[in-house]
Amino acid sequence: MVLKMLVVGGGGREHAIAAALAKNPEVLVYGVMARRNPGIARLAAGIGIRKETDTAGVVAYATAQGIDRAIIGPEAPLDAGVVDALEGAGIPTAGPRRAAARLETDKAFCRDLMQSHGIRGCPFYRVFREPADAAAFIRDHDGDLAVKPSGLTGGKGVRIMGEQVDREGAIAYVRSLPGPVVLEERLIGEEFTLQAFVDGTRLVYMPLVQDHKRAFEGDTGPNTGGMGSYSMADHSLPFVTAEDEAEARAIMADAVAAIRRQGTPFHGILYGQFMNTAKGPRVIEFNARFGDPEAMNVLPLLTSDFSEILCRITEGSLPSRVEWEPLATVCKYLVPEGYPDAPVPGQPLALGDTGDALVYCGSVEEKEGKLATLSSRTLAVVGKGTDLATAEAIAERAAEGVQGRVRHRRDIGTSALLARRVAHMEALR
Ligand code: AMP
Repeated sequence: MVLKMLVVGGGGREHAIAAALAKNPEVLVYGVMARRNPGIARLAAGIGIRKETDTAGVVAYATAQGIDRAIIGPEAPLDAGVVDALEGAGIPTAGPRRAAARLETDKAFCRDLMQSHGIRGCPFYRVFREPADAAAFIRDHDGDLAVKPSGLTGGKGVRIMGEQVDREGAIAYVRSLPGPVVLEERLIGEEFTLQAFVDGTRLVYMPLVQDHKRAFEGDTGPNTGGMGSYSMADHSLPFVTAEDEAEARAIMADAVAAIRRQGTPFHGILYGQFMNTAKGPRVIEFNARFGDPEAMNVLPLLTSDFSEILCRITEGSLPSRVEWEPLATVCKYLVPEGYPDAPVPGQPLALGDTGDALVYCGSVEEKEGKLATLSSRTLAVVGKGTDLATAEAIAERAAEGVQGRVRHRRDIGTSALLARRVAHMEALR
């Protein structure tokens, strides 16, 4: 029996989701996105061009195509209530309803949930509704803080004292913010990502990944949506102990139990971004969907049928485990020159010999068979290999070969960068 699956969203992550679904010949993939993604278009049975937050438009498209199940890629449609609307129209969806998506879309809600349920890994934090109160708190507080607008900011709204801003800069920043703000202790350590499939109750964990938010090599420059990421063949990371990973898993399971107890169970993909500190993992944030780029590390390793996992997420019947290839992965994003502050769009782009790399289209358009950049992350190349060096070489060679006014971070997935991470963690411990 053919299963019609709708992917909402049009970036690299959604291309990887669509590709993972399309591995099953009995699945027909449909996409709905604001702008045609040439990679998704190539493997889809149909695509609808709609704003992903246009709830009525997405539901109308899904209904017209006779969609059986849906999955949401980005956070904005979760916040707009697209899952509630699709399920209201009888289309079970792998993605939390709006109330459960608040774990991501409302940082104050997330911290308050963690605190009120006694969930470990929550840093010291305070929520402020009035900019003047937040400013006064920053002025008097001893120590560096992370300043976060409470709502969605596309991963670019956080300012870290001692890193991007000084005390006065942090005060000026909170004064410039329209809504509530979360101030929290600045965590020092190494970041890692743990994602899990969640069916309301049960969590099935994915391999650990490390993302790179900073625009330039050596972790310098402004924060971006993510420049690339890697995962190891053993599905762990060398600066994360088995105890750290078990702790991170337990924290995520507790968050799922807490949101269930509140009467709004979470069905979808839960993403935990952790800071591994000298005292163990602390939650930087939860996301209510796959990471972009992290989806491109884990999905190519999945050997269990992805469409079945998504169906079981919606039904509350996840199996106790799923199968992953025991391989390392490296993902590198090519981005337009000037990204993220002043990206140069509309530049012609040509893929060279991509060898064994997987290629996922992001913010790129195709006109008469030719690719051109738009203003966000252009395309991602992913190498898979028996070890990190092999995976990195595959990704780097493919990234090097792309012609056009784009750049990427050469250091992602290299042994030099990994050694720095390990040394940093050892110094902290
Ligand atoms: P977010 O938008 O929450 O993903 O934050 C963006 C980046 O800010 C993260 O990847 C971290 O590098 C950094 N960050 C967020 N919260 C903290 C914190 N409490 N301490 C240190 N760094 C943080």
